[in-house]
Amino acid sequence: MNRKIIDAHIHLDMYEDNERVQILDELEATSVESLIAVSNNLASSLRQLEFARMDSRVKPAIGYHPEQSLPSKGELDGIMELIDENREGLIAIGEVGLPYYLRQEEPKIDIAPYVKLLEHFMQKAVNCELPIVLHAIYEDAELVCDMLESYHIKHAHFHWFKGDDAVLDRVLRNGYVLSITPDVTYEQEIQHIVKQTPLSQLMVETDGPWPFKGHFTEKMTHPSMMHRSIKTISDIKGMRVEETYRQIYETTLKFYRV
Ligand SMILES: [Zn+2]
Repeated sequence: MNRKIIDAHIHLDMYEDNERVQILDELEATSVESLIAVSNNLASSLRQLEFARMDSRVKPAIGYHPEQSLPSKGELDGIMELIDENREGLIAIGEVGLPYYLRQEEPKIDIAPYVKLLEHFMQKAVNCELPIVLHAIYEDAELVCDMLESYHIKHAHFHWFKGDDAVLDRVLRNGYVLSITPDVTYEQEIQHIVKQTPLSQLMVETDGPWPFKGHFTEKMTHPSMMHRSIKTISDIKGMRVEETYRQIYETTLKFYRV
């Protein structure tokens, strides 16, 4: 049976060195073909590029994660230059988006500069003709849809999507794709999203090293966990598992052109 999978979103630089070596060593045996390695900041972007030079299965994306303080002008300029210099080797712009969890902790935080930062990245994605990887959940997904529409961006990936049916419907109608993590095996909210989403717009990811619960409690997040995600998705869809693998793999290939 062909069980090929692609991890559509992983923070490879956030693992310990020995863990990363282990993951890369085990990719082939666990039928994981490639990893979309997203970046948190300038230092993290440099590391993903280095990993990609050492191992062609690592597909690097450059960006600035929104759930942290804003970058200095120097750092942002550095990230933008790095994108230009490495345009050919990049798979996407990301991870970028809006700070949802940060605002839960600090409700007074001003969202305007984060929106402006995201606009810079959207403009860059347009100029470079690269897909954009978004961290935009719940109400933020609405605002990000407004922004994507105004930039005429079609090639957008909402990673670990969470949101109500109305925003999910808008994301899907606009032709964007989304990905879900191994928490689909135990979170009803995510299972509901899978139910509504055609496999032509659904990918799987780990967001590793982010840890998971249920069957994965206390385990290092490993791309092989996505095999359980696929099993759950095939159960939800009432589809054969082979067909589920095939469609999700094709959606990812088509979106990322890997
Ligand atoms: Zn992430």
